[in-house]
Amino acid sequence: MTTYHAELAWLPDGPAADVLIEVDGGRFSAVAPGVSPSAGAPRLAGLTLPGLANAHSHAFHRALRGRVQGRGTFWSWRDMMYQVAALLTPDSYRALARAVYAEMALAGITCVGEFHYLHHNTGGTRYADPNEMSAALVEAAAEAGIRITLLDTCYLTSTVDGKPLAGVQERFGDGDAARWAERVSAFTPPAHARVGAAIHSVRAVPAEQIPTVVEWAAARGAPLHVHLSEQRAENTACLAHHRRTPTELLADAGALGPLTTAVHATHLSDSDRTELGDTDTAVCLCPTTERDLADGIGPGRALADTGSPLCLGSDSHAVIDIFEEARAVEMDERLRTERRGHFSANELARAATVAGHAALGWADAGAIAVGQRADLVTVRLDTVRTAGTGPHGAFFAATAADVAHVIVDGREIVHDGQHLHLDVARALEDAIV
Ligand SMILES: [Zn+2]
Repeated sequence: MTTYHAELAWLPDGPAADVLIEVDGGRFSAVAPGVSPSAGAPRLAGLTLPGLANAHSHAFHRALRGRVQGRGTFWSWRDMMYQVAALLTPDSYRALARAVYAEMALAGITCVGEFHYLHHNTGGTRYADPNEMSAALVEAAAEAGIRITLLDTCYLTSTVDGKPLAGVQERFGDGDAARWAERVSAFTPPAHARVGAAIHSVRAVPAEQIPTVVEWAAARGAPLHVHLSEQRAENTACLAHHRRTPTELLADAGALGPLTTAVHATHLSDSDRTELGDTDTAVCLCPTTERDLADGIGPGRALADTGSPLCLGSDSHAVIDIFEEARAVEMDERLRTERRGHFSANELARAATVAGHAALGWADAGAIAVGQRADLVTVRLDTVRTAGTGPHGAFFAATAADVAHVIVDGREIVHDGQHLHLDVARALEDAIV
């Protein structure tokens, strides 16, 4: 058993002072606020949070950071992203993902949801082990010291009206949803990993194929994620072909519900929002990517008010900083409405922690409470960014660079801002060519 003494800890109701935290077998065995420091317990100075969850990641997009900033649209950015995807092998992707997940560990992320569609070799040929890419990503997370939910993504067509995959997209495809399900079912994850399902989008999975993916996830109680209405062009094409919005199409296919997370949900009608909320479908906002790709601003407050739990993802990894994602949810509402104060710090904290873990299928993570997985993320409150901000400053002033210590499932991964197993900047530089 290990005992820590947190100067301040973010408990389920908010920050508390002088919190004694006991960890036994990778879980919290005692959490007691208002306890004087004792000589034996390591002191966690600053603010200690539960583990942060990054609910939407495409690890290889990190290779584009800073490199694709000229004029263009989401679609011209996607062409550049495909050039990176064309070159990756299981070995090179393992090295890149290890570095990216280690960057996440430094940022206090203890669990990632990897929305994974780069399944096959060039031309769509299966590897000898058809899940070799999945295995590479799961191993990468283990080496970086974090948990992973591999959201194995069904990707079958290139357009809403069913045009076949072409070029590098052939690496994403399994032919049909039944073959996708057969491949995914053959992958057995180790203890730090879970497998969920993903429908890439209504562009990439024909309406009649969607129920197969839904049934696969439902039979296992596994999370189901889907990109939804990130671009207006997707809505226009879906309305033209199916006479329904993407949300309506997913609803009709039985794809919405409490185990489903809609990613982005940027361009929604009022009835789309109601449908998501009424079905308890979660929504993952990715504000730093959405602004980087000029997607638009999703209706975060309205979605939360209609019943959709919100979580957060760094998606394309233009930035890996869950504090920035959380703060942007509030700040984007301010820009849209010209008013302040839409989300409380505790709402942003929930999105960053317990809601993200729930969306990834880890109901026993994301809170500092007895019985939960022992994830701790200590943020310094004495840096130039955080000094004088108080405990709520974490979500309104701190950055990933202020994370000092990270413990995942009771194991220390980051100490004094350093990853214990990897030189992360070097690993990123070596992996991005
Ligand atoms: Zn995405």
